[in-house]
Amino acid sequence: MQRAGAERARVPLTRSSAARPAGLRLTPRDDADVMGINHATSGAAVWLATTAALPMLGTDIYPLDPAGALSGSLVCAGAALLPDADHHSATIAHSVPLLGGVVTGEIGSLSGGHRHGAHTLLAAALVTAAAVALGRILTPVPLLGTVALGPAIATVPLVCFAVKARDFVSNWATAWLLGLVAGLLVLIFSPDSTIWFPIAIGLGFVAHIAGDLLTVEGVPAPTWPIQVKPPRTWRRTPILNHLWKRNGYFSLPLLGHAGSIREHAFGVLLGLYCIYGFAEVVMRAAGLHLAIA
Ligand SMILES: [Zn+2]
Repeated sequence: MQRAGAERARVPLTRSSAARPAGLRLTPRDDADVMGINHATSGAAVWLATTAALPMLGTDIYPLDPAGALSGSLVCAGAALLPDADHHSATIAHSVPLLGGVVTGEIGSLSGGHRHGAHTLLAAALVTAAAVALGRILTPVPLLGTVALGPAIATVPLVCFAVKARDFVSNWATAWLLGLVAGLLVLIFSPDSTIWFPIAIGLGFVAHIAGDLLTVEGVPAPTWPIQVKPPRTWRRTPILNHLWKRNGYFSLPLLGHAGSIREHAFGVLLGLYCIYGFAEVVMRAAGLHLAIA
C-alpha cells in the first residue's frame, strides 16, 4: 500500500515538471523538491526566531548565551534536512560516498518512499525523542567539567549537512571538518541546559515539514500512518482539492511548485532574516543591541 501511495505521490510531481515552462525551473532535477539550501535556511531562521521569543515563552533555557544561540541555529539547520534522508538524491545522500546513498535508500524504503513516513509528525516526535536521549549523554572531562557528549557527536553530521546544503563550502571533506569544529564548540560552549538540543532538532524537523507543506506537492496527513482520502465531492471542488489532495496529502501551496521562483524568493527572505539574527547575536555578545528587535 505504501509503495502504491509513493507512486501516486510522484504523479503530480512529474506532471507539474513537464507542464511548467522550462524557464521557470531554476534547478534541473528529476523530480520537484524544496531545495536543501532553503530547508537549512528555514531551520536556522526558526531557531533564531524561537530563541528571540523565549523570554516571552518563559522557558528555562533562556537566556541562551551567544554560543548556544549560534550552535543551536546550525544544529536546527542540519535537522531541517533530516526528513529528506528518505531521498536518494537529497543533500544528505551525498555526505559519505556510497554509504550516504545506501542509508538514504534504506530510510526511503523503510518509511514508504520520499515524502512519506519521514515527513510526518510521528517521525518528528521519534527523532525528537531520540534527541532527548542524546541530550542526556553527558560526560565529565578534565578542565571542562561535565560536557554534552551526545549533542556534540550529533552536531558533527548535522552541521556538515547544513553548511554543505547552504553551499558555504564546495566539498564534503571541508563540510565534515566544519562539522567537527562545531561539535567541539558544542562540547565546550553548549548551554548548561540539556533541553536546547532536542528543541533544536524538533524545530528543525518540523520546519522542514512546514516548508514542504507550502508547496503544491504537500505532505502526508498529520495522522500518518492513517491517511484518510477526501470524499468525491471534496475532490471535485476547486481550491479545496488543492488543500486536501486526492492522495490524502495536505498542502498550503503558497510557494507554488517545489523549486519555483516563489520558493527561491522566500529562501532569500529567510536568509536575510538569518543574517539579521546572526548579527543580533554577535552584537549581543559584544554588549550592543540592534535598533530593531
Ligand atoms: Zn522534504
